[in-house]
Amino acid sequence: SQDRVFNFAAGPATLPEIVLKKAESEVYNWRGSGMSVMEMSHRGKEFLSIIQKAESDLRTLLQIPSDYAVLFLQGGATTQFAAIPLNLCTPDDPVDFIVTGSWGDKAFKEATKYCKPSVIWSGKSDKYTKIPSFDDLQQNPHAKYLHICANETIHGVEFKNYPIPNNKESLLIADMSSNFCSKPVDVSKFGLIYAGAQKNVGPSGVTIVIIRKDLIGNAQEITPVMLDYKIHAENNSLYNTPPCYGIYMCGLVFEDLLAQGGLVEVEKKNMKKAQILYDTIDQSNGFYRCPVEKSVRSLMNVPFTLEKSELEAEFIKEAAKEKMVQLKGHRSVGGMRASIYNAMPLAGVEKLVAFMKEFQARHG
Ligand code: PMP
Repeated sequence: SQDRVFNFAAGPATLPEIVLKKAESEVYNWRGSGMSVMEMSHRGKEFLSIIQKAESDLRTLLQIPSDYAVLFLQGGATTQFAAIPLNLCTPDDPVDFIVTGSWGDKAFKEATKYCKPSVIWSGKSDKYTKIPSFDDLQQNPHAKYLHICANETIHGVEFKNYPIPNNKESLLIADMSSNFCSKPVDVSKFGLIYAGAQKNVGPSGVTIVIIRKDLIGNAQEITPVMLDYKIHAENNSLYNTPPCYGIYMCGLVFEDLLAQGGLVEVEKKNMKKAQILYDTIDQSNGFYRCPVEKSVRSLMNVPFTLEKSELEAEFIKEAAKEKMVQLKGHRSVGGMRASIYNAMPLAGVEKLVAFMKEFQARHG
């Protein structure tokens, strides 16, 4: 609508207008309850209906098998960097990390406190523009799990398929914070998937963990109660006061994704948006550049630079004047980054590429 900008932020990120309008209509008095969701008891029947519907819609969207638990937690994906080794490892257990960007690196560093992780592949020397070939990986045969970051938000590198851990007991674990629910995923290939909500499915404050049920219940003794999956699973994510309003918002987003036809349809839209943006970059004769190897470019986060880097500040300023905001790249890599999550409409990407072409015409 007229008074909204196209927000290309990496997270917290844009939410679907239809979801915001629905929340607006319900904020004062949720469905005749006489109060907002923010004011409800988390143990009352109204909120229970909200969290149960959110879980069941997410299960439908991702076709989550019944032997997996869905947990709505707090603390962001960052808390999971510690919770995962605390729940799945003894302090002496080896685990493997493929590090394709800054988030995988952070997850690895946190894990060093609670188990014995090794980086079996790092894209750092290529400035995190690649995904390894799975055949060449030297996995530890005793590793408890293999950790990947399915989509590196800062570097724009996305796994298009997944490595298989090299022994039957080992698990694949993925941080899907920035591509959660952007496309169908075969959950059964993973021991655990985790994601902060604030990019694709809701506001910050909710972290979703999808975990195979038989993995629950082996937490290290020092594990804080708030990080113990068993506590949260046994209490249906209601051990303590959950982030009620955030869970409600995620539920509205899941409803909207289902109404769009589910993740197969959502992925088609995401591919189209990404393609017109990458095409614009690749067809600019080097005026714009995306450093990421073509086959692993993210559908969600599109980093790019200007050949004339001195024009970058102007690019960002002029785009903002035209109501396209948050296009500055992460402080660690510079340049620009357009995050085009599920909720970014095609019209927003079309407007951005029109602006890019016009900017190039003026400065090329
Ligand atoms: N992993 C990825 C891939 C991310 O993009 C982010 C946040 N940008 C995080 C982890 C950290 O998430 P949080 O801020 O929710 O702790």
